[in-house]
Amino acid sequence: MPDKKSEQVKAKKTKADKEPAPEKPAKQAEPLPEPRRSVAFIGSECYPFVKTGGLGDVMYALPKALVAQNCDVRVILPRYKCIPWKYQEKMVYRGDFMMNLCSDGRPYYVGIMEYVWDGVVYDFIDNDEFFSWGNPYTNLVDDIPKFCFFAKAALAALNYMDWIPDIIHCHDWQASLVPIYLHAMFQGTPIAGAKTVLTIHNLRFQGIYNIETIQYWTGLPSAVFDYAVLQQDWLDANMLKGGLAYASMITTVSNTYAEEIKTPFYGENLDAHLRYHSHKLRGIVNGIDVEQWNSKTDALLAANYDIKNVIKKKKENKLALQRALGLEEDENKFVIGLISRLTNQKGLDLINAVLPELIDGNTQVVVLGTGDPQYEDSFRYYEGAYKGSVCSNIMYDEGRAHQIYAASDALLVPSLFEPCGLTQLIAMHYGTVPIVRETGGLKDTVQPYNEYTDEGNGFTFDRYETWLLLDAINRAKTLYFEDRKRWDRMVKRDMEKDVSWENSAKQYRALYMELRP
Ligand code: ADP
Repeated sequence: MPDKKSEQVKAKKTKADKEPAPEKPAKQAEPLPEPRRSVAFIGSECYPFVKTGGLGDVMYALPKALVAQNCDVRVILPRYKCIPWKYQEKMVYRGDFMMNLCSDGRPYYVGIMEYVWDGVVYDFIDNDEFFSWGNPYTNLVDDIPKFCFFAKAALAALNYMDWIPDIIHCHDWQASLVPIYLHAMFQGTPIAGAKTVLTIHNLRFQGIYNIETIQYWTGLPSAVFDYAVLQQDWLDANMLKGGLAYASMITTVSNTYAEEIKTPFYGENLDAHLRYHSHKLRGIVNGIDVEQWNSKTDALLAANYDIKNVIKKKKENKLALQRALGLEEDENKFVIGLISRLTNQKGLDLINAVLPELIDGNTQVVVLGTGDPQYEDSFRYYEGAYKGSVCSNIMYDEGRAHQIYAASDALLVPSLFEPCGLTQLIAMHYGTVPIVRETGGLKDTVQPYNEYTDEGNGFTFDRYETWLLLDAINRAKTLYFEDRKRWDRMVKRDMEKDVSWENSAKQYRALYMELRP
Protein backbone atom coordinates (compact mmCIF):
# COMPACT_ATOMS: atom_id res chain seq x y z
CA MET A 1 0.00 0.00 0.00
CA PRO A 2 1.38 3.42 -0.75
CA ASP A 3 2.09 5.46 2.32
CA LYS A 4 0.19 8.60 3.20
CA LYS A 5 3.07 10.93 2.39
CA SER A 6 3.59 9.67 -1.14
CA GLU A 7 -0.17 9.80 -1.63
CA GLN A 8 -0.13 13.47 -0.60
CA VAL A 9 2.74 14.24 -2.99
CA LYS A 10 0.91 12.48 -5.78
CA ALA A 11 -2.27 14.39 -4.99
CA LYS A 12 -0.31 17.65 -5.04
CA LYS A 13 1.30 16.74 -8.34
CA THR A 14 -1.99 15.85 -9.97
CA LYS A 15 -3.51 19.08 -8.77
CA ALA A 16 -0.55 21.03 -10.06
CA ASP A 17 -0.76 19.19 -13.41
CA LYS A 18 -4.39 20.08 -13.75
CA GLU A 19 -3.95 23.74 -12.85
CA PRO A 20 -3.81 25.98 -15.87
CA ALA A 21 -0.36 27.29 -16.56
CA PRO A 22 0.05 30.78 -15.14
CA GLU A 23 -0.90 33.24 -17.84
CA LYS A 24 1.94 35.16 -19.42
CA PRO A 25 1.61 38.81 -18.47
CA ALA A 26 -0.18 40.55 -21.37
CA LYS A 27 2.10 42.77 -23.44
CA GLN A 28 1.79 46.19 -21.89
CA ALA A 29 0.48 48.73 -24.33
CA GLU A 30 2.99 51.55 -24.70
CA PRO A 31 1.80 54.63 -22.83
CA LEU A 32 0.62 57.38 -25.16
CA PRO A 33 3.23 60.04 -25.79
CA GLU A 34 2.42 63.34 -24.12
CA PRO A 35 1.32 66.06 -24.66
CA ARG A 36 -1.64 65.60 -26.96
CA ARG A 37 -1.31 67.47 -30.26
CA SER A 38 -4.05 68.50 -32.64
CA VAL A 39 -3.57 68.37 -36.39
CA ALA A 40 -5.75 69.39 -39.32
CA PHE A 41 -4.97 67.49 -42.52
CA ILE A 42 -5.88 69.36 -45.67
CA GLY A 43 -5.68 67.56 -49.02
CA SER A 44 -7.53 66.75 -52.20
CA GLU A 45 -8.11 63.02 -51.86
CA CYS A 46 -8.47 60.35 -49.21
CA TYR A 47 -9.21 56.63 -49.40
CA PRO A 48 -11.95 55.26 -49.33
CA PHE A 49 -13.90 58.37 -50.32
CA VAL A 50 -11.81 59.29 -53.33
CA LYS A 51 -8.38 58.05 -54.40
CA THR A 52 -6.34 58.36 -57.56
CA GLY A 53 -2.92 57.45 -56.16
CA GLY A 54 -0.61 57.26 -53.17
CA LEU A 55 -1.78 60.60 -51.71
CA GLY A 56 -5.21 59.04 -51.09
CA ASP A 57 -3.62 56.18 -49.15
CA VAL A 58 -1.53 58.51 -47.01
CA MET A 59 -4.46 60.82 -46.18
CA TYR A 60 -6.31 57.78 -44.86
CA ALA A 61 -3.60 55.84 -43.07
CA LEU A 62 -1.42 58.55 -41.52
CA PRO A 63 -4.25 60.24 -39.54
CA LYS A 64 -5.22 56.85 -38.12
CA ALA A 65 -1.61 56.16 -37.13
CA LEU A 66 -1.36 59.64 -35.56
CA VAL A 67 -4.43 58.97 -33.44
CA ALA A 68 -2.44 56.09 -31.91
CA GLN A 69 0.32 58.64 -31.18
CA ASN A 70 -2.01 60.78 -29.08
CA CYS A 71 -2.96 63.22 -31.81
CA ASP A 72 -6.38 64.67 -32.39
CA VAL A 73 -6.84 64.61 -36.18
CA ARG A 74 -9.36 66.20 -38.46
CA VAL A 75 -9.13 65.62 -42.21
CA ILE A 76 -10.51 68.34 -44.45
CA LEU A 77 -11.50 67.32 -47.96
CA PRO A 78 -13.64 68.62 -50.80
CA ARG A 79 -17.08 67.06 -50.93
CA TYR A 80 -16.82 65.76 -54.48
CA LYS A 81 -19.89 64.39 -56.15
CA CYS A 82 -17.92 61.29 -57.11
CA ILE A 83 -17.65 60.19 -53.43
CA PRO A 84 -19.74 56.99 -53.25
CA TRP A 85 -23.25 57.44 -51.92
CA LYS A 86 -22.67 54.98 -49.06
CA TYR A 87 -20.35 57.59 -47.51
CA GLN A 88 -22.29 60.67 -48.58
CA GLU A 89 -25.42 59.43 -46.86
CA LYS A 90 -23.59 59.01 -43.56
CA MET A 91 -22.25 62.58 -43.53
CA VAL A 92 -23.81 64.89 -40.99
CA TYR A 93 -24.43 68.56 -41.67
CA ARG A 94 -22.11 70.60 -39.46
CA GLY A 95 -22.90 74.12 -40.60
CA ASP A 96 -22.46 76.61 -43.41
CA PHE A 97 -21.39 80.17 -43.99
CA MET A 98 -20.61 82.56 -46.82
CA MET A 99 -17.00 83.37 -47.68
CA ASN A 100 -15.54 86.02 -49.94
CA LEU A 101 -13.25 84.73 -52.63
CA CYS A 102 -11.75 86.34 -55.75
CA SER A 103 -10.35 89.82 -56.05
CA ASP A 104 -13.86 91.22 -56.52
CA GLY A 105 -14.89 89.71 -53.19
CA ARG A 106 -17.69 87.53 -54.55
CA PRO A 107 -19.38 85.62 -51.70
CA TYR A 108 -19.38 81.82 -51.97
CA TYR A 109 -21.29 79.20 -50.02
CA VAL A 110 -19.17 76.94 -47.78
CA GLY A 111 -20.98 73.96 -46.30
CA ILE A 112 -19.37 71.54 -43.83
CA MET A 113 -20.46 67.91 -43.81
CA GLU A 114 -18.92 65.66 -41.17
CA TYR A 115 -18.16 61.99 -40.92
CA VAL A 116 -16.42 60.36 -37.96
CA TRP A 117 -14.68 57.06 -38.45
CA ASP A 118 -12.01 55.15 -36.51
CA GLY A 119 -11.18 58.06 -34.23
CA VAL A 120 -10.64 60.47 -37.14
CA VAL A 121 -13.03 63.32 -37.97
CA TYR A 122 -13.54 63.99 -41.69
CA ASP A 123 -14.93 67.38 -42.65
CA PHE A 124 -16.04 67.75 -46.25
CA ILE A 125 -16.17 71.23 -47.74
CA ASP A 126 -19.35 71.48 -49.72
CA ASN A 127 -19.94 73.71 -52.74
CA ASP A 128 -21.64 72.37 -55.83
CA GLU A 129 -20.23 75.04 -58.09
CA PHE A 130 -16.71 73.63 -57.62
CA PHE A 131 -17.06 70.02 -56.64
CA SER A 132 -19.94 68.62 -58.64
CA TRP A 133 -17.93 67.24 -61.56
CA GLY A 134 -14.61 65.50 -62.10
CA ASN A 135 -13.26 62.23 -60.92
CA PRO A 136 -12.17 64.13 -58.81
CA TYR A 137 -9.86 66.20 -61.02
CA THR A 138 -10.77 67.57 -64.42
CA ASN A 139 -8.27 69.88 -66.05
CA LEU A 140 -6.14 72.70 -64.76
CA VAL A 141 -8.55 75.39 -66.00
CA ASP A 142 -11.23 74.06 -63.65
CA ASP A 143 -8.95 72.69 -60.98
CA ILE A 144 -7.14 75.96 -60.24
CA PRO A 145 -10.30 77.86 -59.06
CA LYS A 146 -11.47 74.70 -57.28
CA PHE A 147 -8.39 74.52 -55.08
CA CYS A 148 -8.13 78.29 -54.55
CA PHE A 149 -11.60 78.04 -53.08
CA PHE A 150 -10.80 74.85 -51.15
CA ALA A 151 -7.65 76.19 -49.43
CA LYS A 152 -9.36 79.32 -48.19
CA ALA A 153 -12.57 77.51 -47.26
CA ALA A 154 -10.63 74.92 -45.23
CA LEU A 155 -9.06 77.63 -43.05
CA ALA A 156 -12.34 79.51 -42.74
CA ALA A 157 -14.07 76.24 -41.76
CA LEU A 158 -11.58 75.67 -38.92
CA ASN A 159 -12.34 79.15 -37.60
CA TYR A 160 -16.07 78.57 -38.08
CA MET A 161 -15.96 75.27 -36.17
CA ASP A 162 -13.76 76.91 -33.55
CA TRP A 163 -11.37 74.00 -33.81
CA ILE A 164 -7.91 75.52 -33.74
CA PRO A 165 -5.21 72.90 -34.27
CA ASP A 166 -1.56 73.14 -33.22
CA ILE A 167 -0.54 72.08 -36.73
CA ILE A 168 -2.11 72.40 -40.16
CA HIS A 169 -0.68 69.65 -42.34
CA CYS A 170 -1.18 70.41 -46.05
CA HIS A 171 -0.62 67.98 -48.88
CA ASP A 172 0.56 68.71 -52.43
CA TRP A 173 -0.24 71.72 -54.61
CA GLN A 174 -3.99 71.47 -54.13
CA ALA A 175 -3.58 72.51 -50.48
CA SER A 176 -0.45 74.60 -50.81
CA LEU A 177 -2.21 77.96 -50.81
CA VAL A 178 -3.11 77.30 -47.17
CA PRO A 179 0.16 78.64 -45.66
CA ILE A 180 -0.08 81.72 -47.88
CA TYR A 181 -3.70 82.44 -46.99
CA LEU A 182 -2.84 81.93 -43.33
CA HIS A 183 -0.05 84.48 -43.59
CA ALA A 184 -1.81 86.99 -45.83
CA MET A 185 -5.48 86.85 -44.93
CA PHE A 186 -6.08 85.09 -41.61
CA GLN A 187 -3.85 87.13 -39.31
CA GLY A 188 -5.90 88.35 -36.36
CA THR A 189 -8.27 85.37 -36.59
CA PRO A 190 -8.16 82.39 -34.18
CA ILE A 191 -6.37 80.11 -36.67
CA ALA A 192 -3.45 82.54 -37.12
CA GLY A 193 -1.24 80.88 -34.51
CA ALA A 194 -1.24 77.41 -36.08
CA LYS A 195 2.02 76.14 -37.59
CA THR A 196 1.99 74.66 -41.08
CA VAL A 197 3.59 71.57 -42.58
CA LEU A 198 3.49 71.11 -46.35
CA THR A 199 4.17 67.61 -47.65
CA ILE A 200 5.27 67.06 -51.22
CA HIS A 201 3.94 63.74 -52.44
CA ASN A 202 4.97 64.40 -56.01
CA LEU A 203 6.92 67.45 -57.08
CA ARG A 204 5.88 67.03 -60.70
CA PHE A 205 2.46 68.52 -60.01
CA GLN A 206 2.68 72.14 -58.91
CA GLY A 207 -0.52 73.99 -59.83
CA ILE A 208 0.95 76.46 -62.33
CA TYR A 209 -1.30 78.95 -64.11
CA ASN A 210 -1.13 82.54 -65.28
CA ILE A 211 -0.72 85.12 -62.55
CA GLU A 212 -3.82 87.04 -63.53
CA THR A 213 -6.12 84.04 -63.08
CA ILE A 214 -4.62 82.93 -59.78
CA GLN A 215 -4.61 86.48 -58.48
CA TYR A 216 -8.27 86.85 -59.45
CA TRP A 217 -9.43 83.58 -57.89
CA THR A 218 -7.39 83.80 -54.69
CA GLY A 219 -7.87 87.48 -54.08
CA LEU A 220 -4.38 87.38 -52.52
CA PRO A 221 -2.45 90.67 -52.31
CA SER A 222 0.15 91.52 -54.97
CA ALA A 223 2.93 91.23 -52.39
CA VAL A 224 2.79 87.42 -52.48
CA PHE A 225 3.01 87.36 -56.27
CA ASP A 226 6.74 88.01 -56.28
CA TYR A 227 9.62 85.69 -57.17
CA ALA A 228 10.25 84.60 -53.60
CA VAL A 229 6.70 83.29 -53.23
CA LEU A 230 4.16 82.62 -55.99
CA GLN A 231 5.66 84.08 -59.14
CA GLN A 232 7.32 81.56 -61.39
CA ASP A 233 8.17 83.63 -64.47
CA TRP A 234 6.78 86.63 -66.33
CA LEU A 235 3.41 85.03 -66.88
CA ASP A 236 2.85 82.28 -64.40
CA ALA A 237 2.27 81.75 -60.71
CA ASN A 238 3.11 78.46 -59.03
CA MET A 239 0.90 77.44 -56.11
CA LEU A 240 3.26 74.80 -54.72
CA LYS A 241 6.21 77.18 -54.86
CA GLY A 242 4.29 79.78 -52.84
CA GLY A 243 3.24 77.22 -50.24
CA LEU A 244 6.82 76.02 -49.81
CA ALA A 245 7.93 79.59 -49.10
CA TYR A 246 5.43 80.14 -46.32
CA ALA A 247 5.16 76.67 -44.74
CA SER A 248 6.74 76.38 -41.30
CA MET A 249 8.16 73.01 -42.35
CA ILE A 250 8.35 71.10 -45.64
CA THR A 251 8.40 67.35 -45.78
CA THR A 252 8.55 64.85 -48.55
CA VAL A 253 7.94 61.15 -48.47
CA SER A 254 11.45 59.71 -48.33
CA ASN A 255 14.94 60.83 -47.38
CA THR A 256 16.40 60.14 -50.79
CA TYR A 257 13.67 62.13 -52.58
CA ALA A 258 14.27 65.01 -50.12
CA GLU A 259 17.86 65.08 -51.36
CA GLU A 260 17.06 64.43 -55.02
CA ILE A 261 14.60 67.32 -55.40
CA LYS A 262 17.35 69.77 -54.58
CA THR A 263 19.06 68.81 -57.84
CA PRO A 264 18.09 70.00 -61.35
CA PHE A 265 17.31 66.47 -62.61
CA TYR A 266 14.62 65.77 -60.02
CA GLY A 267 13.83 69.35 -58.98
CA GLU A 268 11.13 70.03 -61.63
CA ASN A 269 12.41 73.63 -61.90
CA LEU A 270 12.01 74.16 -58.15
CA ASP A 271 15.43 72.83 -57.14
CA ALA A 272 16.88 76.29 -56.45
CA HIS A 273 13.78 77.24 -54.41
CA LEU A 274 14.08 73.99 -52.45
CA ARG A 275 17.80 74.46 -51.87
CA TYR A 276 16.99 77.93 -50.51
CA HIS A 277 14.40 76.43 -48.12
CA SER A 278 16.38 73.26 -47.39
CA HIS A 279 16.83 74.16 -43.69
CA LYS A 280 13.15 73.28 -43.22
CA LEU A 281 12.97 70.31 -45.60
CA ARG A 282 12.78 66.75 -44.21
CA GLY A 283 12.12 63.28 -45.56
CA ILE A 284 9.79 60.82 -43.79
CA VAL A 285 9.05 57.60 -45.59
CA ASN A 286 5.46 56.41 -46.01
CA GLY A 287 4.06 53.21 -44.59
CA ILE A 288 1.04 51.14 -45.56
CA ASP A 289 -2.12 50.42 -43.66
CA VAL A 290 -1.46 46.89 -42.47
CA GLU A 291 -5.11 46.34 -41.60
CA GLN A 292 -6.26 47.17 -45.09
CA TRP A 293 -3.35 45.21 -46.57
CA ASN A 294 -3.43 41.99 -44.59
CA SER A 295 -2.93 38.79 -46.59
CA LYS A 296 -4.30 36.75 -43.70
CA THR A 297 -7.73 38.40 -43.74
CA ASP A 298 -7.92 39.99 -47.21
CA ALA A 299 -11.37 38.99 -48.45
CA LEU A 300 -10.41 39.70 -52.05
CA LEU A 301 -7.86 36.88 -52.27
CA ALA A 302 -8.45 33.36 -53.55
CA ALA A 303 -6.41 32.00 -50.62
CA ASN A 304 -5.45 33.84 -47.46
CA TYR A 305 -1.99 33.30 -46.08
CA ASP A 306 0.62 34.36 -43.59
CA ILE A 307 4.35 33.94 -43.35
CA LYS A 308 4.03 30.24 -42.43
CA ASN A 309 2.14 29.14 -45.51
CA VAL A 310 2.96 31.88 -48.00
CA ILE A 311 4.94 29.63 -50.36
CA LYS A 312 2.09 27.14 -50.74
CA LYS A 313 -0.78 29.63 -50.76
CA LYS A 314 0.88 32.02 -53.19
CA LYS A 315 0.69 29.20 -55.73
CA GLU A 316 -3.06 28.89 -55.14
CA ASN A 317 -3.44 32.63 -55.66
CA LYS A 318 -1.30 32.40 -58.77
CA LEU A 319 -3.43 29.64 -60.28
CA ALA A 320 -6.62 31.54 -59.46
CA LEU A 321 -5.32 34.69 -61.11
CA GLN A 322 -4.10 32.81 -64.18
CA ARG A 323 -7.53 31.23 -64.52
CA ALA A 324 -9.35 34.54 -64.06
CA LEU A 325 -7.17 36.34 -66.60
CA GLY A 326 -6.95 33.61 -69.22
CA LEU A 327 -3.23 33.02 -68.72
CA GLU A 328 -1.66 29.61 -69.07
CA GLU A 329 -2.34 27.87 -65.74
CA ASP A 330 0.95 26.75 -64.29
CA GLU A 331 2.14 27.37 -60.73
CA ASN A 332 5.78 27.12 -61.83
CA LYS A 333 5.68 30.14 -64.11
CA PHE A 334 7.47 33.22 -62.85
CA VAL A 335 4.72 35.84 -62.61
CA ILE A 336 5.74 39.48 -62.76
CA GLY A 337 3.17 42.10 -61.73
CA LEU A 338 2.96 45.78 -62.63
CA ILE A 339 0.41 47.95 -60.78
CA SER A 340 0.83 51.53 -61.74
CA ARG A 341 -0.45 54.74 -63.19
CA LEU A 342 0.66 54.46 -66.79
CA THR A 343 2.81 57.59 -67.08
CA ASN A 344 6.44 58.08 -68.00
CA GLN A 345 7.32 58.66 -64.31
CA LYS A 346 6.85 54.96 -63.73
CA GLY A 347 9.61 53.67 -66.03
CA LEU A 348 7.23 52.28 -68.60
CA ASP A 349 9.54 53.03 -71.53
CA LEU A 350 11.99 50.61 -69.99
CA ILE A 351 9.32 47.97 -69.46
CA ASN A 352 8.03 48.37 -72.99
CA ALA A 353 11.50 47.92 -74.35
CA VAL A 354 12.32 44.77 -72.37
CA LEU A 355 8.94 43.05 -72.38
CA PRO A 356 9.51 40.89 -75.49
CA GLU A 357 12.78 39.67 -73.97
CA LEU A 358 11.02 38.50 -70.82
CA ILE A 359 8.60 36.16 -72.52
CA ASP A 360 10.59 32.95 -72.59
CA GLY A 361 7.92 30.34 -71.94
CA ASN A 362 8.56 30.41 -68.19
CA THR A 363 7.51 33.94 -67.44
CA GLN A 364 4.19 35.76 -67.35
CA VAL A 365 3.52 39.48 -67.04
CA VAL A 366 0.33 40.92 -65.52
CA VAL A 367 -0.28 44.64 -65.91
CA LEU A 368 -2.88 46.73 -64.06
CA GLY A 369 -3.13 50.42 -64.76
CA THR A 370 -4.58 53.33 -66.67
CA GLY A 371 -2.99 56.46 -68.00
CA ASP A 372 -1.30 57.70 -71.16
CA PRO A 373 -2.89 56.17 -74.27
CA GLN A 374 0.56 55.38 -75.68
CA TYR A 375 1.26 52.97 -72.78
CA GLU A 376 -2.28 51.63 -72.61
CA ASP A 377 -2.03 50.75 -76.29
CA SER A 378 1.41 49.19 -76.10
CA PHE A 379 0.34 46.92 -73.23
CA ARG A 380 -2.79 45.97 -75.15
CA TYR A 381 -0.56 45.15 -78.10
CA TYR A 382 1.68 42.94 -75.97
CA GLU A 383 -1.33 41.10 -74.58
CA GLY A 384 -2.38 40.25 -78.14
CA ALA A 385 1.15 39.40 -79.26
CA TYR A 386 1.88 37.11 -76.30
CA LYS A 387 -1.53 35.58 -75.58
CA GLY A 388 -1.44 33.39 -72.51
CA SER A 389 1.75 34.98 -71.19
CA VAL A 390 0.83 38.67 -70.92
CA CYS A 391 -2.40 40.10 -69.54
CA SER A 392 -3.02 43.85 -69.59
CA ASN A 393 -5.81 45.07 -67.37
CA ILE A 394 -6.26 48.64 -68.55
CA MET A 395 -8.46 49.71 -65.68
CA TYR A 396 -8.45 50.93 -62.10
CA ASP A 397 -9.56 48.04 -59.95
CA GLU A 398 -8.81 47.80 -56.23
CA GLY A 399 -9.79 44.12 -56.03
CA ARG A 400 -7.65 43.09 -58.97
CA ALA A 401 -4.73 44.99 -57.43
CA HIS A 402 -5.00 42.89 -54.25
CA GLN A 403 -5.10 39.69 -56.29
CA ILE A 404 -2.05 40.62 -58.35
CA TYR A 405 -0.03 41.53 -55.25
CA ALA A 406 -0.86 38.15 -53.74
CA ALA A 407 -0.37 36.06 -56.87
CA SER A 408 2.80 37.55 -58.36
CA ASP A 409 6.31 36.39 -57.59
CA ALA A 410 7.84 39.78 -58.36
CA LEU A 411 6.56 43.33 -58.83
CA LEU A 412 8.19 45.82 -61.20
CA VAL A 413 8.74 49.43 -60.12
CA PRO A 414 11.50 50.80 -62.38
CA SER A 415 10.47 54.45 -61.92
CA LEU A 416 12.28 57.40 -63.44
CA PHE A 417 11.59 59.11 -60.12
CA GLU A 418 9.57 57.90 -57.17
CA PRO A 419 8.91 60.15 -54.14
CA CYS A 420 8.12 57.12 -51.96
CA GLY A 421 6.14 54.49 -53.82
CA LEU A 422 3.60 52.33 -52.07
CA THR A 423 3.39 49.42 -54.46
CA GLN A 424 6.80 48.03 -53.48
CA LEU A 425 5.79 48.22 -49.80
CA ILE A 426 2.49 46.44 -50.40
CA ALA A 427 4.29 43.87 -52.55
CA MET A 428 6.83 43.04 -49.84
CA HIS A 429 4.08 42.81 -47.26
CA TYR A 430 2.34 40.26 -49.50
CA GLY A 431 5.54 38.25 -50.00
CA THR A 432 6.16 39.55 -53.52
CA VAL A 433 9.74 40.46 -54.36
CA PRO A 434 10.13 44.02 -55.71
CA ILE A 435 12.35 44.82 -58.69
CA VAL A 436 13.04 48.55 -58.48
CA ARG A 437 15.23 51.36 -59.65
CA GLU A 438 17.33 52.92 -56.89
CA THR A 439 15.59 56.26 -56.68
CA GLY A 440 13.57 58.11 -54.02
CA GLY A 441 11.61 55.93 -51.66
CA LEU A 442 12.39 52.81 -53.68
CA LYS A 443 16.02 53.20 -52.67
CA ASP A 444 15.10 53.81 -49.03
CA THR A 445 12.76 50.84 -48.68
CA VAL A 446 14.18 48.02 -50.82
CA GLN A 447 17.53 46.65 -49.69
CA PRO A 448 19.24 45.06 -52.71
CA TYR A 449 19.69 41.29 -52.59
CA ASN A 450 23.23 40.27 -51.71
CA GLU A 451 23.97 36.79 -53.00
CA TYR A 452 27.03 36.41 -50.76
CA THR A 453 25.33 37.14 -47.47
CA ASP A 454 21.84 36.05 -48.57
CA GLU A 455 20.38 39.34 -47.31
CA GLY A 456 18.08 41.92 -48.87
CA ASN A 457 14.49 42.38 -49.98
CA GLY A 458 14.55 42.72 -53.74
CA PHE A 459 16.45 43.36 -56.95
CA THR A 460 17.59 46.85 -57.82
CA PHE A 461 19.41 48.78 -60.53
CA ASP A 462 20.70 52.33 -60.59
CA ARG A 463 20.85 54.15 -63.94
CA TYR A 464 17.67 54.55 -65.98
CA GLU A 465 18.70 52.14 -68.72
CA THR A 466 16.84 49.33 -70.40
CA TRP A 467 19.55 46.73 -70.11
CA LEU A 468 20.01 47.39 -66.40
CA LEU A 469 16.31 46.69 -65.81
CA LEU A 470 16.59 43.54 -67.89
CA ASP A 471 19.64 42.50 -65.91
CA ALA A 472 17.79 43.01 -62.60
CA ILE A 473 14.83 40.93 -63.81
CA ASN A 474 17.18 38.22 -65.03
CA ARG A 475 18.97 38.13 -61.69
CA ALA A 476 15.58 37.67 -60.03
CA LYS A 477 14.61 34.91 -62.44
CA THR A 478 17.92 33.13 -61.96
CA LEU A 479 17.44 33.01 -58.21
CA TYR A 480 13.80 31.92 -58.59
CA PHE A 481 14.54 29.08 -60.98
CA GLU A 482 17.94 27.98 -59.69
CA ASP A 483 17.85 28.47 -55.95
CA ARG A 484 14.25 28.38 -54.78
CA LYS A 485 15.24 27.98 -51.12
CA ARG A 486 16.98 31.34 -51.12
CA TRP A 487 14.12 32.89 -53.06
CA ASP A 488 11.61 31.60 -50.53
CA ARG A 489 13.70 32.97 -47.69
CA MET A 490 13.58 36.39 -49.34
CA VAL A 491 9.80 36.14 -49.69
CA LYS A 492 9.55 35.49 -45.95
CA ARG A 493 12.02 38.26 -45.12
CA ASP A 494 9.89 40.66 -47.12
CA MET A 495 6.76 39.66 -45.26
CA GLU A 496 8.56 40.20 -41.96
CA LYS A 497 9.74 43.68 -42.86
CA ASP A 498 8.02 46.42 -40.88
CA VAL A 499 6.22 48.59 -43.45
CA SER A 500 3.53 49.86 -41.08
CA TRP A 501 2.81 53.53 -40.43
CA GLU A 502 3.80 53.38 -36.78
CA ASN A 503 7.40 54.44 -37.27
CA SER A 504 6.57 57.24 -39.69
CA ALA A 505 3.74 58.51 -37.49
CA LYS A 506 6.24 58.78 -34.62
CA GLN A 507 8.52 60.87 -36.82
CA TYR A 508 5.67 63.17 -37.87
CA ARG A 509 4.69 63.59 -34.25
CA ALA A 510 8.27 64.50 -33.36
CA LEU A 511 8.20 67.08 -36.13
CA TYR A 512 4.94 68.56 -34.84
CA MET A 513 6.52 68.73 -31.39
CA GLU A 514 9.47 70.66 -32.82
CA LEU A 515 7.07 73.23 -34.21
CA ARG A 516 4.85 73.24 -31.11
CA PRO A 517 6.94 72.05 -28.13
P1 ADP B 1 1.43 57.10 -57.25
O1 ADP B 1 0.86 57.82 -56.08
O2 ADP B 1 2.58 57.81 -57.90
O3 ADP B 1 0.40 56.69 -58.25
P2 ADP B 1 2.14 55.02 -55.34
O4 ADP B 1 2.99 53.80 -55.49
O5 ADP B 1 2.53 55.97 -54.26
O6 ADP B 1 2.06 55.72 -56.76
O7 ADP B 1 0.63 54.57 -55.04
C1 ADP B 1 -0.13 53.88 -55.95
C2 ADP B 1 -1.36 53.31 -55.24
O8 ADP B 1 -2.41 53.19 -56.20
C3 ADP B 1 -1.14 51.92 -54.68
O9 ADP B 1 -2.01 51.72 -53.58
C4 ADP B 1 -1.57 51.01 -55.85
O10 ADP B 1 -1.96 49.73 -55.41
C5 ADP B 1 -2.74 51.81 -56.40
N1 ADP B 1 -2.97 51.62 -57.82
C6 ADP B 1 -2.26 52.13 -58.86
N2 ADP B 1 -2.83 51.80 -60.04
C7 ADP B 1 -3.91 51.05 -59.74
C8 ADP B 1 -4.93 50.40 -60.53
N3 ADP B 1 -4.93 50.49 -61.85
N4 ADP B 1 -5.90 49.73 -59.90
C9 ADP B 1 -5.90 49.66 -58.53
N5 ADP B 1 -5.00 50.24 -57.74
C10 ADP B 1 -4.01 50.93 -58.32
